[in-house]
Amino acid sequence: MIKIEHLNMHFGDKEVLKDINLTVKKGEVVALIGPSGSGKSTLLRCLNFLVKPTSGRLNIDGINLDVTDVSKKDIFSLRQKTAMVFQNYNLLKNMTALGNIMEPMVTVQKMNKKEAETIALELLERVGLKNHKNSYPSQLSGGQQQRVGIARAMAVNSNIILFDEPTSSLDPELVGDVLEVIKKLAIETQKTMLIVTHEMKFAKEVSDKIVFLENGSIVVDGTPNEIFVESKNTRVSNFVNKMT
Ligand code: ATP
Ligand code: MG
Repeated sequence: MIKIEHLNMHFGDKEVLKDINLTVKKGEVVALIGPSGSGKSTLLRCLNFLVKPTSGRLNIDGINLDVTDVSKKDIFSLRQKTAMVFQNYNLLKNMTALGNIMEPMVTVQKMNKKEAETIALELLERVGLKNHKNSYPSQLSGGQQQRVGIARAMAVNSNIILFDEPTSSLDPELVGDVLEVIKKLAIETQKTMLIVTHEMKFAKEVSDKIVFLENGSIVVDGTPNEIFVESKNTRVSNFVNKMT
């Protein structure tokens, strides 16, 4: 579960997030959409303190805190609760696909290697890369690397996965495979997912709720039907129609 209350974030005197209130229930998939610079990445990064919010409260899977009063231990706990998938994969270059997926289990969860390998192999199969277990990132396509990144996020023992434009640096023909993998995981697992995306068709198909952010504020949130079909907000309709 993610609960965000009255969250604000300033970079210097620039207000990047303004009074954000949002609840994502356990197992829910929420798409975060909106124009470039609206604060989508910043919002995601505030949830694990890659960016420090200025004020507000967060409840991340039971870790309930005032963001102005946060210890190192709280930040460590927040990061254990939230796996993140980045735009540019962030894989370790000197490790194979299998090694990359095993890494968080062995180093963070202190799992023994045999057990971590068994889970990593299952995850590789789920993302359709069983035959690439011994490949290094440089030997994989962008789409394959991103699927390894997703498998690695799944391997982190957290209920929440944050995706920041997981397909935006991929060649168009590789986007579909990665979105399919995310969709399948959204259906098959109980992970709570918050996904920043510009892929409107995907957002419509995969999410329980869509949140439209502009100039650091949530303009509307609602079901895909409410946003794509019934929205009376012309700003939102124009945006989604332009993107599809
Ligand atoms: P995009 O779709 O282009 O990724 P976004 O919605 O993710 O955009 P953010 O990256 O969250 O937008 O940025 C929101 C605002 O915060 C922008 O105006 C940006 O210039 C500003 N910003 C982001 N990072 C910093 C920083 N480190 N210092 C100052 N301003 C920043
Ligand atoms: Mg961004």
